[in-house]
Amino acid sequence: MEDIVGKRFKVVVIGSGPAGLTAALYAARADLSPIVFEGIEPGGQLMTTSDVENFPGYPDGVTGPQMMDDLRKQATRFGADCRYGYVTKIDFDKRPYKITVDEKTEVFADTVIASTGASAMWLGIESEQKLRGKGVSACATCDGAFFRNEHVIIVGGGDTAMEEATFLTKFASKVTVIHRREELRASKAMQKRAFDNEKIEFMWNSGVEEVLGENVVEGVKIKNLQSGEITTLDDVTGVFVAIGHKPNTDLFKGVITMDDVGYIQTKGQSTKTDLPGIFACGDAMDSFYRQAVTAAGTGCKAALDAEHYLSNEMSEEAIAQEHWK
Ligand code: NAP
Repeated sequence: MEDIVGKRFKVVVIGSGPAGLTAALYAARADLSPIVFEGIEPGGQLMTTSDVENFPGYPDGVTGPQMMDDLRKQATRFGADCRYGYVTKIDFDKRPYKITVDEKTEVFADTVIASTGASAMWLGIESEQKLRGKGVSACATCDGAFFRNEHVIIVGGGDTAMEEATFLTKFASKVTVIHRREELRASKAMQKRAFDNEKIEFMWNSGVEEVLGENVVEGVKIKNLQSGEITTLDDVTGVFVAIGHKPNTDLFKGVITMDDVGYIQTKGQSTKTDLPGIFACGDAMDSFYRQAVTAAGTGCKAALDAEHYLSNEMSEEAIAQEHWK
């Protein structure tokens, strides 16, 4: 990192999932020499996804890590500088923005692309973590097709859980929803769709006590949270956790407008935030679609917005503001 101390970049990309690396690719091809600080989980959530079959252009599918490796290579081929490093602070008061990496390295940025992603919330039990990517998943759209004619469970009672439960019935023979209360949080329409689906069953007031199996899921122990009774579902081969996501946007808290959960709000169809030169893309600003391909799409938009800003708005501001000179 010593080689970049005090250096000013036209584009600093924070985060290295599909959004960040696509932004880097576009910015690099526009000759903006972006630097990417990859964050704590280089590659983002796809690094824990085994097979990706729904990203266009991979007719035979690809593993999540391979896809991220390909994307990084593609971005670096055009001059993006991808570095291990975690942005710990941004000084929003002065421009260019001062960015601190790993609490010590300071660089400056004319534009910042926030692609810090989101992290799925997990139940936090040991067996769940052990079997992540081996039958335990937080993304039915990504992994549902691997459970044809199998019995799977989905944990949660919100819209995501109902939507994913319904989606999973395309493949699974049976989907059991495990919910900690006896009333769903999901909208009435989503509830009705799930209740009307013959393949979906519900276990109320219940939680996952343990996911069974060493290398693959071989059942689950479910605890009734009122009686304490344990039921073992020994034919379950897939566990989907749908208890919400948390966007990784603490860096921008109190400075950029976010929704209640912490998703960055962007303006209209653009990736602009309420600070000039700061753009947001991917799961950090999208609570709804959350797909690799949609994240990549918004990453492209962020780079185009940054390019436009650098060549138009920033030069106008430069004339107006002394410290840009
Ligand atoms: P959510 O609405 O926050 O629901 C999370 C669910 O998980 C709740 O039922 C909650 O239980 C449960 N839960 C939370 N922590 C848990 C834990 N530690 N153990 C067990 N259960 C736990 O999250 P979401 O369903 O992902 O939805 C997020 C947002 O996206 C919502 O605004 C939703 O409306 C929206 N969304 C919309 C659509 C659509 O319209 N098509 C689709 C998906 C999502 P409690 O109910 O007891 O709190």
